[in-house]
Amino acid sequence: MRVTVMRPRPRRFRAALTALAVGGLLAAAGCAGPSSSGSTGSRSPSGGPSASAAPGSGGGKAAPVPNRAAAFRKWGIPLLPPPPAPPAVKPVHTGGPQIPVVSRIPTQQKIVFVTFDDGAEKDPKFVDMMRDLRIPFTMFLTDAIIKNDYGYFRPLQALGNSIEDHTLTHPDLRTRSLAQQRSEICGQQTRLTGEYGTRPGLFRPPYGAYDAATRTAAQSCGGLRAIILWRESMQIKKVAFQDPGKRFHPGDIILAHFRGPSELKGETMTVMVRNMLREIARQGYTVARLEDYV
Ligand SMILES: [Zn+2]
Repeated sequence: MRVTVMRPRPRRFRAALTALAVGGLLAAAGCAGPSSSGSTGSRSPSGGPSASAAPGSGGGKAAPVPNRAAAFRKWGIPLLPPPPAPPAVKPVHTGGPQIPVVSRIPTQQKIVFVTFDDGAEKDPKFVDMMRDLRIPFTMFLTDAIIKNDYGYFRPLQALGNSIEDHTLTHPDLRTRSLAQQRSEICGQQTRLTGEYGTRPGLFRPPYGAYDAATRTAAQSCGGLRAIILWRESMQIKKVAFQDPGKRFHPGDIILAHFRGPSELKGETMTVMVRNMLREIARQGYTVARLEDYV
């Protein structure tokens, strides 16, 4: 039995443990492995959100930013429109006999969803950036990668962003038995609940790799509503599109990672995020909160 206590871990543990725990894992931790082509299991009441846009932060959890335009200017990003009001009814059907697998949200609106995986890089500047910009995003975290500093993610969560399940140790789940998959998925759900006080509702399999047992396992944990894949993945400077026309489509889910200079050829996470948001702005989209739609 492990008793989890909600208290920040001293930062000085970070460096040592990072080298130990993350070094080996990370080489293989990239999520940009096999990626799903297409979303299934999501049924839309077509049209999606219709409430008139209310300015502010989509989820209504984070306090409004006093000067949004100035914040975007400061980070060198064109001003993105605030997210539209969340739909009254979530367009992805959940709670059925089989957990849905989703890589795009059914919507007509020019919105995309940003997700950050694993949790390796813990750059304080990224926290500053998100505190300024209030872009909604979802974190899919792996225990083996974040346990050297659970505290890093709390201010990001406090901004209204959800912490979701990405397994205990980041295996390719297709190589594991049903019981092992249950342990990886349900175990991380319990761990995250203990650390962050909220039970994850979404699950992303490492590398986007899953099989029928994964769906059974995720369903069996209780509380997981959907398996979330992606349509685009963020590289250092560019977005990798599944669409050969290199365009976003309404409701696309974008995969990015908590990565820093050692994985980004010397570039920082905030530069990567800036590049991603610039592309989203260039194509006339804005970012909405995934949990408002699933
Ligand atoms: Zn991952």
